[in-house]
Amino acid sequence: MQASGAFGSKGNLWHSTAREQVTADSADALPSAVDLLIIGGGFTGLSAALEAARMGAKVALLEAQEIGHGGSGRNVGLVNAGLWLPPQEIIKTLGLKTGEALIDTLGAAPARVFDLIARENIACEATRNGTLHLAHNAAGLNDLKTRHRQGNQYGAPLQLLDAEETAARTGSPNFAGALFDPRAGTIQPLTYARGLARAAQAAGAQIFAPFIVEDLTYQGRAWVARAAGREITAQSALIATNAYHMTGFSSYRPSFIPVCYSQFATTPLPHPCERNS
Ligand SMILES: Cc1cc2nc3c(=O)[nH]c(=O)nc-3n(C[C@H](O)[C@H](O)[C@H](O)COP(=O)(O)OP(=O)(O)OC[C@H]3O[C@@H](n4cnc5c(N)ncnc54)[C@H](O)[C@@H]3O)c2cc1C
Repeated sequence: MQASGAFGSKGNLWHSTAREQVTADSADALPSAVDLLIIGGGFTGLSAALEAARMGAKVALLEAQEIGHGGSGRNVGLVNAGLWLPPQEIIKTLGLKTGEALIDTLGAAPARVFDLIARENIACEATRNGTLHLAHNAAGLNDLKTRHRQGNQYGAPLQLLDAEETAARTGSPNFAGALFDPRAGTIQPLTYARGLARAAQAAGAQIFAPFIVEDLTYQGRAWVARAAGREITAQSALIATNAYHMTGFSSYRPSFIPVCYSQFATTPLPHPCERNS
């Protein structure tokens, strides 16, 4: 997320307000062999590090920049309960078994995230008030109606709000309606990423940053990674570099389409009662 200099030297609001700090492990402690090597310190790599370390694996995570440098430290902070698509479209694309498994997994995701935040005591401003998906016209409302009907069929506790109720909740009369998902919520994403790192370290994982993995190859019976002139051998390797992937591993080269995106933050708005007084 890019913002003005008022939000701190990194131009990212989340940097200015993050309550968790990460102390990376010293480069001297880099092991020569691990059970699981993780490349990338975002939600994917950090969650995997935490879970694997809790299960007793010897884990090393290497992040090229700083924890949360990628999408995990720049996103909107919505903890969503699914893709913003009608379930039947997901099933049409993925097939019944995989589609239903994805719908169930994503539906359960907010509970899992909020439980983890509570368990690990991560101070990431977790708020679970649900989210509103807003329809700006009649076609948008039809889309929400389809998602509401199909979502309910698949057990999602979605509520369709009319224009009046939407206006009461948003303060704007310009919406045709909204879909309320009570399972969802929000977090401060950079703090969440840093909290995951802290929890993974407490569970025994080692976290190294900044540390760029320059190469990763499968040699015989194990993965061998090269970073800062050192080699690490790993039984398993997880590439969790997302669109921020740096350096061309011979075995992995992602492709992506750039999409422009903006988000804005204001100083906290007054409560409606204060506004009207
Ligand atoms: C603008 C925006 C808004 C979004 N809003 C939401 C939202 O509200 N809710 C939601 O659920 N999702 C949202 N997302 C998606 C979400 O942010 C991502 O899906 C998620 O952060 C991906 O996490 P990740 O761990 O897979 O990757 P990332 O967080 O991108 O982490 C990848 C990491 O890999 C590191 N890396 C790359 N190459 C190497 C290397 N060679 N060696 C070592 N490390 C390396 C990078 O430095 C980076 O830190 C949003 C995304 C964007 C861009």
